[in-house]
Formats: sequence, C-alpha cells, structure tokens
Amino acid sequence: MILILLGPPGAGKGTQAERIVQTRRIPQLSTGDMLRAEKAKGTPLGKKVQAIMDRGDLVSDRVIEEIVTERIREPDCKRGFILDGAVRTVGQAKMIDRVLKKQKRELDVVIEIEVDEEELVKRLKKRVAETKAAGKPVRADDNEETFRKRQAVYREQTAPLIPYYKKQGKLRSVDGMGSVAAVAKAIDAILDEFAAE
Ligand code: AMP
Repeated sequence: MILILLGPPGAGKGTQAERIVQTRRIPQLSTGDMLRAEKAKGTPLGKKVQAIMDRGDLVSDRVIEEIVTERIREPDCKRGFILDGAVRTVGQAKMIDRVLKKQKRELDVVIEIEVDEEELVKRLKKRVAETKAAGKPVRADDNEETFRKRQAVYREQTAPLIPYYKKQGKLRSVDGMGSVAAVAKAIDAILDEFAAE
C-alpha cells in the first residue's frame, strides 16, 4: 500500500505514521526526518537546507525528488510505504506520480488530517514546554513564530494538493482534532478498505 499523509505541521502525521508502520508493516518516509538527519551529520545537503528549514520555508522540489526517489527504491519499500510530510507542493505530487508510474506502481490513497490552526499553536506551546521540562532538545523550527510561518507555507503551497488529489479520486479526510486513538481509528477504517481489496 502506498499512502500519503497530508496535513499542516503539528497535525499528528508523524504519530499516526509511526503507528501504521507497526500495524501494516510498511516504512514511514518522512522527508523532515531525513533532512534533519542530514543536518545533524553536517553533510553538504544538510548544510544547504539548514537555514531554509530553520526559518520554516520549504526546500526545493529537486532536493525532495532526489531523497525520495532514492529511498523508495530500497527493498523495504517493495510492499509499500507511507509518505509522511514528503509531498508538499503540486510539483512534488506530479513528481511522485511520475516516479511511481515509471516503476509501474500507483498511489493508493491520500489521507488528509484536518485540524484547527489555533489549536495546533496551543498544542505546540505545550509540547515545547514539556520537552524543555524533560531536559530534551527542542527542534530549531519549533517556536511559535516559525511554527506560524510553517502553517502559512502549508496553506499557500501544500493545501492546493487537496483539490489535486480530490480530482484524482484519491483524497480521504479525517477529523484530526480528536484524541490520537480516535484519529487512529478513523485512519484504520480507511486503510482496512484498501487492505481488503
Ligand atoms: P517536517 O518535519 O515534516 O515538518 O519538516 C521540517 C522541514 O523540512 C520543513 O519545514 C521544510 O523546511 C523541510 N521539508 C520536509 N519535507 C519537505 C518537503 N516535502 N518539501 C519541502 N520541504 C520539506
């Protein structure tokens, strides 16, 4: 199964993806995690994207194309994978369609996690306070100002994917404002439809 999780920063895509990895045995491809790993290692790519990520902008479609196409060729992606925050512009969506077609594969479903932006800001503040209290490092882009910037970037550059995938008949939406368990249940109901095919 090839699945895209769509939703603004902080909507819970990563949390849900981690769970799907366990239950459906397919890997999670988070371009955010991949890029943070490059940053941490101080690779040329990491150095190139650092400032862009820290201010909450998107890295270029070209960079995403490189890291995603390389990753989905790996053997663990044979049975499918979850693209978690890995498709953020219409250009990237077209690229994924093209790459999959070349491999004679197809995207199954896009699940949009619908959330309220102000509520996400509240959740972010709570999460940052808890992380700091636990003495753990906070992500460089997890401060209110950059978080709001990332929300604006989502609205402007990523939200156009909603009509794009709706047109393809691939879009399903779930209410992301409930508990993690409630969101998981709604997502599972959709995934079960595909597993049953
Ligand atoms: P995330 O952890 O998914 O919120 O991603 C953190 C940051 O990495 C984003 O704010 C972007 O700067 C960058 N990034 C991650 N995925 C993408 C993508 N598909 N396209 C462009 N930039 C991305």
